[in-house]
Amino acid sequence: MEHFDVLVVGAGLSGIGAGYHLQTNCPKKTYAILEGRDVIGGTWDLFRYPGIRSDSDMYTLGYSFRPWSEAKAIADGPSILNYVRETARDYGIDKHIRFQHQVKRASWSTPDARWTVEAERGPDRELVRYTCNFLFMCAGYYDYAGGYMPEFPGIETYAGQLVHPQKWPENLDYAGKNVVVIGSGATAVTLVPELAKQTGHVTMLQRSPTYVVSRPAEDAFANRLRRNLPAMLAYRITRWRNVLMSMWFYNLSRKRPARVKAAIIDMVQKALGPDYDVATHFTPSYNPWDQRLCLVPDSDLFDTIKSGRASVVTDQIATFTENGLKLKSGQQLDADIVVTATGLKLLFLAGLEFTVDGERVDFPKRFTYKGMMYNDVPNLAASFGYTNASWTLKCDLTCEYVCRLLNHMDKTGTVSATPRVKEAEIEADPFLSFSSGYVLRALDQMPKQGKAAPWKLHQNYALDLMGLRFGKLDDGVMEFARKARVLEPAE
Ligand SMILES: Cc1cc2nc3c(=O)[nH]c(=O)nc-3n(C[C@H](O)[C@H](O)[C@H](O)COP(=O)(O)OP(=O)(O)OC[C@H]3O[C@@H](n4cnc5c(N)ncnc54)[C@H](O)[C@@H]3O)c2cc1C
Repeated sequence: MEHFDVLVVGAGLSGIGAGYHLQTNCPKKTYAILEGRDVIGGTWDLFRYPGIRSDSDMYTLGYSFRPWSEAKAIADGPSILNYVRETARDYGIDKHIRFQHQVKRASWSTPDARWTVEAERGPDRELVRYTCNFLFMCAGYYDYAGGYMPEFPGIETYAGQLVHPQKWPENLDYAGKNVVVIGSGATAVTLVPELAKQTGHVTMLQRSPTYVVSRPAEDAFANRLRRNLPAMLAYRITRWRNVLMSMWFYNLSRKRPARVKAAIIDMVQKALGPDYDVATHFTPSYNPWDQRLCLVPDSDLFDTIKSGRASVVTDQIATFTENGLKLKSGQQLDADIVVTATGLKLLFLAGLEFTVDGERVDFPKRFTYKGMMYNDVPNLAASFGYTNASWTLKCDLTCEYVCRLLNHMDKTGTVSATPRVKEAEIEADPFLSFSSGYVLRALDQMPKQGKAAPWKLHQNYALDLMGLRFGKLDDGVMEFARKARVLEPAE
């Protein structure tokens, strides 16, 4: 069985970042990345729908160590994929990847102080095993097998083409067709303006509205800085400016929700004109940041609606019909193509089965430590990004912390690090505080968080920066152990 100091699961944005941090901060450690698919890039390779793009700026979605150097701050999927792949190639991280290794199980043995990781390799799903001292999950947060699909009545009667954005058919011809996009999230607001460039008409059918905010696709400040300063310095300044601005906006939304709500709706009304029914189609019943805000570049969604090439219908589906959809209001929507932008199926730690000394780890009964480890599970960390800011901000900090932890264990001659719950009982909160459907549907697979550090999952870069980059490793909660004495079997 091949052994590595660290095994990383997943070669997406997080896994490639993990490779960089490991080889830079722990250069003596051996590591490999096990990737289920046969390419690098994860999300940015999987999703192929027209117009696929980021919905946060690339100065914070990019890595801390590699400047984003393209003009667009809200970038298209292929450019992001290219950035991840170039990073993997330029730093030689790609040489550490074992493709077509779908990891299924991981079992920790305290006497051996190692994980045994089982994966299915290649099309024949040959079982392979590796061992490692530390397991770093960078497998994203949703099910690659397929997206979420509600049970729509009468769907079997529909004669047109049904498409889910997670499995966009190559060469789907939508020119001149009538398309209905079901959904109001990031995917729907991305798809609608892009499809409308060619379709007869696009209807965005939503059960309830989402907050939609427009930002310039290009960041003039960042582009000016880049022209006048060294690339890394310009990147760092823009990154910090964007971090601070998004923290300020998030905090304002939590403290003054009515004010922020009014300001967002006012902006939408201005973009769509005074006669547009913003109250029905763009005024959510919840407060800003109770769910993720949708970002659109250069008002593209609003301009498309204004031009008449797309429209929004806020209603519920009574049933699919042969030609489209019948709504609860009685309205009929004819559609040659229906796109179900109904979201992701979340999957905690890629749905792997974990055992510690033969006992299965039941994550819903565990607490997350610093938002990346779990009580009573040794030497396991997971990269999980922010819900209210760019994913990579947290993943970079998680990687830094993991490297500090590994170096600390080397220095102290310890072989395992296990967060232990010492308080009689920690008051539990759900892992994520979002009210979005895709989060609520998955909360029962996830661990809990506590109300105070280190059990609290801060959705706050500044707090995490202090805790993860500078906080004490031996904090009284993390238990460090030397190798357990292996008992010889009795003669
Ligand atoms: C359409 C879309 C747009 C998004 N836009 C943004 C955005 O603008 N800003 C933002 O902050 N976030 C965004 N996100 C969230 C986004 O997923 C993250 O930003 C980021 O790409 C996640 O990177 P990751 O490497 O953690 O996960 P992924 O990109 O999901 O990569 C995980 C990798 O792990 C592999 N893997 C999974 N399970 C296993 C297994 N069992 N064995 C082996 N390999 C496995 C997968 O094949 C994949 O390659 C978006 C998500 C989606 C779906």
